[in-house]
Amino acid sequence: CGIIGIVGTQSVQERLIDSLKRLEYRGYDSAGIAGVVGGQLERRRAQGKIRNLEEVLSEHPLQATVGIGHTRWATHGAPSERNAHPHKAGRVTLVHNGIIENYAELREALRAHGRSFESDTDTEVIAQLLDSELDTGKAPLEAFKATLDKLTGAYALAVLVQGEDELMMGARRGSPLVVGYGQGEMFIGSDALAVGPFTNRISYLDEGDYVAINHGSARIFDEAGQPVERKIQTVAASA
Ligand code: GLU
Repeated sequence: CGIIGIVGTQSVQERLIDSLKRLEYRGYDSAGIAGVVGGQLERRRAQGKIRNLEEVLSEHPLQATVGIGHTRWATHGAPSERNAHPHKAGRVTLVHNGIIENYAELREALRAHGRSFESDTDTEVIAQLLDSELDTGKAPLEAFKATLDKLTGAYALAVLVQGEDELMMGARRGSPLVVGYGQGEMFIGSDALAVGPFTNRISYLDEGDYVAINHGSARIFDEAGQPVERKIQTVAASA
């Protein structure tokens, strides 16, 4: 299972797929991508091999320059298209690696507030929770922090919010996540390999960190919400 996110200037579909193929070694049972198309968030998902996702994309291309991708190793909910990531709730579309341990109680609370779920995953509660925080009028980063504070378990996340075309958010606790620095483009990935085709300049996020990237910069915050610097390293190029 793995994650990739690109805030790019050129089409991301091929690049998301290329990156997901590099994450194949981690094992997966389904895959999906999402991107901003004309201000709307669209997704394409498929059970099974990345080849199956490529077939979906050949019929329904995703013409986006900002996007996220995921390979899933199902922990909660059968490996099916419906449970494949990215998951979507209201304005939020996101991908997740890891396990949310308190998902059942969070889901009950969200249901009690009238929210209905379309998958069996623990991941969907993160999307629903973040969307409900946005509904209270919080700015995206503030809503993201409030969401992270309510989660127990492990996560690496890449998140897009409808109407925030210049913003991608990421976070990690228990699962790894790196930030990649390109030329007028920025990346989020599970490891150096995931962003390897695009850049060899990366920062490893620390446990509990979250990040906001746009085309030109990354703002990293620690678990307490304080802005922090994480060293940019140059890793060996992977062709
Ligand atoms: N727990 C999530 C799910 O079952 C994420 C699994 C993963 O790490 O790929 O969908």
